[in-house]
Amino acid sequence: LCTISSGGLVAYSESQAEPGSGIPSEKKKKVLVLGTGWAGTSFLKDIDVSHYDVQVISPRNYFAFTPLLPSVTCGTVEARSIVEPVRKIIKKRDGEVQFCEAECVKIDAAGKRVYCQSNIENNLVGNKEFSLEYDYLVIAVGAQVNTFNTPGVQENCHFLKEIEDAQKIRGTVIDCFEKAVLPGLSEEERKTNLHFVIVGGGPTGVEFAAELHDYIHEDLVNLYPKAKDLVKITMIQSGDHILNTFDERISSFAENKFRRDGIEILTGRRVVNVSEKEVAMNIKSTGESCSIPHGIVLWSTGVGTRPVIKDFMEQIGQKNRRVLATDEWLKVKGCDNVYALGDCASIDQRKIMEDIATIFEAADKDKSGTLSVKEFQDVLDDIIIRYPQVELYLKSMHMSDVTDLFKDPRGTDATEVDIEGFKSALSHVDSQMKSLPATAQVAAQQGAYLSRCFNRMEQCEQNPEGPRRFRSSGRHQFRPFCYKHFGQFAPLGGEQTAAELPGDWVSMGHSTQWLWYSVYASKQVSWRTRVLVVSDWLRRSVFGRDSSR
Ligand code: FAD
Ligand code: MG
Ligand code: MG
Ligand code: MG
Ligand code: MG
Repeated sequence: LCTISSGGLVAYSESQAEPGSGIPSEKKKKVLVLGTGWAGTSFLKDIDVSHYDVQVISPRNYFAFTPLLPSVTCGTVEARSIVEPVRKIIKKRDGEVQFCEAECVKIDAAGKRVYCQSNIENNLVGNKEFSLEYDYLVIAVGAQVNTFNTPGVQENCHFLKEIEDAQKIRGTVIDCFEKAVLPGLSEEERKTNLHFVIVGGGPTGVEFAAELHDYIHEDLVNLYPKAKDLVKITMIQSGDHILNTFDERISSFAENKFRRDGIEILTGRRVVNVSEKEVAMNIKSTGESCSIPHGIVLWSTGVGTRPVIKDFMEQIGQKNRRVLATDEWLKVKGCDNVYALGDCASIDQRKIMEDIATIFEAADKDKSGTLSVKEFQDVLDDIIIRYPQVELYLKSMHMSDVTDLFKDPRGTDATEVDIEGFKSALSHVDSQMKSLPATAQVAAQQGAYLSRCFNRMEQCEQNPEGPRRFRSSGRHQFRPFCYKHFGQFAPLGGEQTAAELPGDWVSMGHSTQWLWYSVYASKQVSWRTRVLVVSDWLRRSVFGRDSSR
């Protein structure tokens, strides 16, 4: 099967290189990691420093647990409870990982060098700018907010991407309430100050709306009784439904819950301008435009490309893309020794139709020019590893048995197919190709996967034939990255959460909230943050949230 792909798979090894069997430091290859978010830290946790000289660059010297950022905006959880110093995470027993607090401003792939800038204030002595060499580069810089060049957004909206954003929102929400109760304001002005607008009905926007609603109705209306009837939350969504990446049942459950809670949902509208006082939008169906006054706007409509990545993509001929394209082993296309993972990259999956002739030839062991069901079954597992869309297709067609693929439309069972028959049997498979979502779950799995590959690289170089099942002729001796989806949550406020779990299982309500608490507690990076987060939850349930500015 080694001939299946021009990319050159298909062997992989299950065994691990023995850790600790170190090599002299002058011979170690230099691995440079950009970013300490989900992808970066998950790579760093497992990388074997006895084999590599590892350096990390990131403008923030901590890892932030982003799924709890919406809780930070309302003080349900404190900011300090969801961050962990990078230096603590990367401390190793048998070696050292170097860390520099700086931003990478340029990548020079041809010269194998990156250029960095330290943003530490008052850094008058020493280096503000420096460059570093690498043998392998791991790019995990994530993405930035996307304003779609909408006028006024950058100046007048809040974002929710970083810890500082969440802290800023927390202060501004309280400001809105304090402003609304100042003497001498008209009813209209008070209402405007207490109008919270959220642009974007994705998971982040929905979770923020839910948090804010709870905060207002559990804590703030008791402290600002005058504000009670004036406060309002509005969500603007360009599509027809909120949470449209989730199962329909969840999306309508969320919409109904929000309606009951008095959160207004405006769908089918595109925001065209945000001024200091108003949000202007177009109604898609009629083309009409309208505007609403606001006290604060959260802009949460998806992610865009960081400038350093944009510049790098132009260098390596990946123009006009939003994220870096990699192969299934996370190696950046058109570039040696550079890997990219997480939100700044996406895997360019191979189409099975492009390789169909080679697959046919490799599978046709007896060179008869036709493929028997048995011949096909023999290679199916290998095909699924390389082309995961095959498995998705079989699932979507409810085919438990691959021989169904060979079924003749006239009803007679074919036992042999020629190349044309093979092509038509698999012709719809590629329609199942999906790019992976920009989530922490994907980023973390990619980081863990890549460190496993790095840790075994040495061993595979010594034993290029690979073990047991497969043979390899090329550089790839690893199974391609394969994402395992463990489900996703949508906390909806009022101690209710919706969840989409593996196997098409949807669960909603109070019991799911408990599942959410336990999963999020268990996913914390350290016992310190775990204890802090859980005690924040307890503190809130006993004393309420802290609403001082
Ligand atoms: P990030 O985690 O963003 O990390 C990027 C890192 O690169 C950071 O350390 C940054 O400081 C650093 N960096 C930036 N620029 C440079 C530079 N020029 N040079 C060097 N370093 C740089 N996902 C889920 O799966 N479940 C959730 O519930 C969930 N909730 C979310 C809630 C919110 C509010 C947000 C914003 C995101 C949420 N996500 C969730 C998505 C998840 O956070 C991202 O998919 C994930 O962070 C991507 O990981 P990453 O490592 O690619 O990027
Ligand atoms: Mg990262
Ligand atoms: Mg992060
Ligand atoms: Mg990605
Ligand atoms: Mg044959």
